[in-house]
Amino acid sequence: MYCPAGDFYIDPWRPVDRAVITHAHADHARTGHTHYLATNVSEHVLRSRLGAIDLQTLAYGEAITINGVVVSLHPAGHVLGSGQVRIAHAGRVWVASGDYKTAPDATCAPFEAVACDTFITESTFGLPIYRWPSDAEVFADINAWWSANAAQGLASVLYCYSFGKAQRILSGVDASIGPIVVHGAVQVLNAAYRASGVALPETHLVTEITDKALLKRALVLAPPSVAGSSWMKRFGEYRDAFASGWMLLRGARRRRGVDRGFVLSDHADWPGLHSAIAATGCEQVIVTHGSTPVMVRYLEENGLSARAFTTEFGDDTLDDSVEIAPA
Ligand SMILES: [Zn+2]
Ligand SMILES: [Zn+2]
Repeated sequence: MYCPAGDFYIDPWRPVDRAVITHAHADHARTGHTHYLATNVSEHVLRSRLGAIDLQTLAYGEAITINGVVVSLHPAGHVLGSGQVRIAHAGRVWVASGDYKTAPDATCAPFEAVACDTFITESTFGLPIYRWPSDAEVFADINAWWSANAAQGLASVLYCYSFGKAQRILSGVDASIGPIVVHGAVQVLNAAYRASGVALPETHLVTEITDKALLKRALVLAPPSVAGSSWMKRFGEYRDAFASGWMLLRGARRRRGVDRGFVLSDHADWPGLHSAIAATGCEQVIVTHGSTPVMVRYLEENGLSARAFTTEFGDDTLDDSVEIAPA
């Protein structure tokens, strides 16, 4: 996405001079740009993922002017530091949402509706079938599953994406049930979250737990890529599950081949998308990133001007923008 007046790009996938980055998921934050602009809250995570970059940061709501265009970043509620980009120029205001969710998340600032003329919305779960259960229900289910497995002396392996999902799960589970083991890929992000002031329960690398009996009571958070790898051997017999919005679909659960699926997404569901769009008061919506045709038709039937815009977002496996590939 390019802003001609300001001569900057939002979440570009090819190297550019000036990139505004909505959040640090790999399909949005790539290496190779000359200058980066992002939220100050995302700094630790961005630097841990992209290394030495020329990064300017803004507090939420703080504005700067780029070539006469006023740019500010506002909470998107997606992951730590995620921002919507507000662009004001010649009396018009556009907002590019980036990825967002309207459900509560203790590990990041809540989504904030920003008034605008044109809203560029993501639509990862832009179909009426997508309606998330409440967080309270999902975490009660995860805790009950973990407790029951621990009582049988079986570790509970919960596959989830390392950035965002893992920390949200950590913020909601009952750490009194047993120890929490995380894969190294998750632990790196936990450190960035803690450095940013987000409280998480104690987490251990598997090598730090030498008592085998303790491992059999553990909740294990690991990226889906370790399924079936030698890393899993240390847990002996275990139960496994996957946490993703896609777990609403029986086919996705079956293809993953896990015992359980927990419906937990870092994207807005269908009602969330529509409440967010309505709250902006916009006249025009540009839909990207997912099921665009149904969204466009629905918005037009409801009196808005809407069109789709094709992007390459979602072609990685670090957030649940992409449906889980067969295991
Ligand atoms: Zn994302
Ligand atoms: Zn995305």
